[in-house]
Amino acid sequence: MKRVGAHVSASGGVEMAPVNAFEIGAKAFALFTKNQRQWKSPPLTKKSIEIFKSNLIKYGFSPNHILPHDSYLINLGHPEEEGLAKSRDAFEDEMKRCELLDIPQLNFHPGSHLGKIDPEKSLLRIAESINIALDKTKGVTAVIENTAGQGTNLGYKFEHLAFIIHHVEDKSRVGVCLDTCHSFVAGYDLKSKKGYENTFNEFDRIVGIQYLKALHLNDAKKELGSKVDRHESIGKGTIGLDTFIWIMNDPRFDELPMILETPNEEIWAEEIKLLYSLVE
Ligand SMILES: [Zn+2]
Ligand SMILES: [Zn+2]
Repeated sequence: MKRVGAHVSASGGVEMAPVNAFEIGAKAFALFTKNQRQWKSPPLTKKSIEIFKSNLIKYGFSPNHILPHDSYLINLGHPEEEGLAKSRDAFEDEMKRCELLDIPQLNFHPGSHLGKIDPEKSLLRIAESINIALDKTKGVTAVIENTAGQGTNLGYKFEHLAFIIHHVEDKSRVGVCLDTCHSFVAGYDLKSKKGYENTFNEFDRIVGIQYLKALHLNDAKKELGSKVDRHESIGKGTIGLDTFIWIMNDPRFDELPMILETPNEEIWAEEIKLLYSLVE
């Protein structure tokens, strides 16, 4: 079955996220396991971890359907040593938090070259950062998100994702999360049926569909190829509802967490209902 949810709040503690997800009728969810705007947060308490796990059982969530997102400050492809070291430490901490919560995956944006090094060098740094984090943790897959290609962000081409994966040593613990808004504004047509089919065929050919671990379901505010990362509510943007009908009926996405990051959280419950109503 399909596992649709949203990136819910964890304010008051990670243990609140399953409650918030349940309240909107989600069958999957994303969360930040720490304050996403700060480099350092206090460690998760034993109590918080225990309640989180018991809430998963209470509200019917499997760890496979939970997709934590790392802090936006982290840049695993940072051109400068200091920024790179800081990012790698913070990423390791994020991976360890997932390990403590028994969540088998962490979603992150690959990184930016900031116009200071060759994009390929930055991509190599990202792969090396993943290798370091995988060495220091157990049981958590690093899930790279494709990006809109805004500014100097890497990961907007399937070739970037394939390049990173190629240089990761433990291929059993690396995967990809495709964001529909990012894909579309990066230039992958999802609006026409033919474009939709081509996009996922290309993904399979270049990256490999077996690496697809999650989707972010967002409509877009801007046009195909605009490289502007502005999410829109489902069916109200430049992608449109048809694409989400195809997604909800595509068996390749069964049991993958499919997470809304749409701008109006007031209507997440409605959006989840709408998406499930599209299943034929
Ligand atoms: Zn996303
Ligand atoms: Zn985005």
